[in-house]
Amino acid sequence: MTDTIASDLPTSVDSAAYAAQASQAYQAALSVIETIEPRIAVATRAELADQRASLKLIASENYASPAVLLTMGTWFSDKYAEGTVGHRFYAGCQNVDTVEALAAEHARELFGAEYAYAQPHSGIDANLVAFWSILAHRVEQPELAELGKKNVNELTEEQWETLRHKFGNQRALGMSLDAGGHLTHGFRPNISGKMFHQRSYGTDPTSQLLDYDQVAAAAREFKPLILIAGYSAYPRRIDFARMREIADEVGATLMVDMAHFAGLVAGKVFTGNEDPVPHAHIVTTTTHKSLRGPRGGLVLATEEYAPSVDRGCPLVLGGPLSHVMAAKAVALAEARTPSFQTYAQAVAENAQTLAEGLKKRGAKLVTDGTDNHLVLIDVSNFGLTGRQAESALLDSGIVTNRNAVPNDPNGAWYTSGVRIGTPALTSRGFGAAEFDTVADLIVNVLKGTSPVTASTGKPGKAKYMIADGLPEATKAASAELLDANPLYPGLEL
Ligand SMILES: *Cc1c(COP(=O)(O)O)cnc(C)c1O
Repeated sequence: MTDTIASDLPTSVDSAAYAAQASQAYQAALSVIETIEPRIAVATRAELADQRASLKLIASENYASPAVLLTMGTWFSDKYAEGTVGHRFYAGCQNVDTVEALAAEHARELFGAEYAYAQPHSGIDANLVAFWSILAHRVEQPELAELGKKNVNELTEEQWETLRHKFGNQRALGMSLDAGGHLTHGFRPNISGKMFHQRSYGTDPTSQLLDYDQVAAAAREFKPLILIAGYSAYPRRIDFARMREIADEVGATLMVDMAHFAGLVAGKVFTGNEDPVPHAHIVTTTTHKSLRGPRGGLVLATEEYAPSVDRGCPLVLGGPLSHVMAAKAVALAEARTPSFQTYAQAVAENAQTLAEGLKKRGAKLVTDGTDNHLVLIDVSNFGLTGRQAESALLDSGIVTNRNAVPNDPNGAWYTSGVRIGTPALTSRGFGAAEFDTVADLIVNVLKGTSPVTASTGKPGKAKYMIADGLPEATKAASAELLDANPLYPGLEL
């Protein structure tokens, strides 16, 4: 079993000395930047000011700690280190080895994984590593074994061509985009859709919940090499034990993309069947969403898949971002502390409060609620498109993103939904009272916004009108919440 590391760490929330050190560090860093390109220093300060002054409800965003952020700004950025720990194609990688080994160790301990790979630069890269590792393990290696060859370089042109066609003829089954799946799960605009024959499973038309029988039926019929679970806009937990049963029944590899909810797994909110790590062959994630680390990716795998994942470089990656791996190690150390578990618990509880607050004020929610960190409002009963709702909320200082709802009549661009998440504001210290007020502000803005008819005479999908004074009043009300829960308290910039 994994456990937290023995002692808690100082975090931005509760240590004045830590904040004072961070203030000095950033003031110094910004004056160094100012001497070369002052406009970048100005933009950097402006970004902090903007983030401090807005209600950030984008479900995929968060605020990393000063320790995590500062770790990225070092000379590790300058080092090439292709290869793996202790096995590099470049000389002088002993310190990168320390960093990567620590990041992987924290990841293994935190998630209880047999193996962790800390090199992917982002979530999409983590998924590419996973896809090609699965292809290597399940398609390339059996082919090599059959031909009695050790590696691909020993194949003749003809044998290699045959293998390349096999790579291109595999199947992946993932959650449909409008049910909350992700573009990287086999959809045509993404490389994954060009690599695989893809099919998707959706949600129940009435309950909008994931229908495992439908997944099982699709798997039996389609017989995918890979069953992909995970989402970026589904407001519910998933039973990964059930997904593994389905994968096993059809001989598929179960890959779980926990990019959105890794923080809830790390914080032990998702345990048992809701924790993907004991059930999946391969788990991918981002490190910057609910996990609150630097922008980056991570792959966790069973011993069986570890050797293939370990070849992520040169399979699909070049040199690792060692400065970011260092920041991943710091963030994962933070995530192993008791205070991170408290945080993750609060993220989920706040989402409940937000959902209840929205519903009791008349908002319609996809699946009628949430049990993770995000809520999807179907704004059609306010007479709005997602695009109009997103814009009106932004005018009022509330940052969200529009998102398709299941079977969305307005498509993926205008949409009928707005996705809101609690990880960022929970990092600022927002609790139940604040999130109930947030629900009130959101519904007020939606009720006070109306669509403007387009020049064609049809109801417009983008233009809208917002009641006089409403944006200003909303901003004033959120400023009170924001002032009471400052971002990076004590950080003077
Ligand atoms: C965000 C996300 C990704 C992509 O992460 P990037 O770091 O932006 O590349 C992949 N999968 C899911 C499910 C996501 O939510």
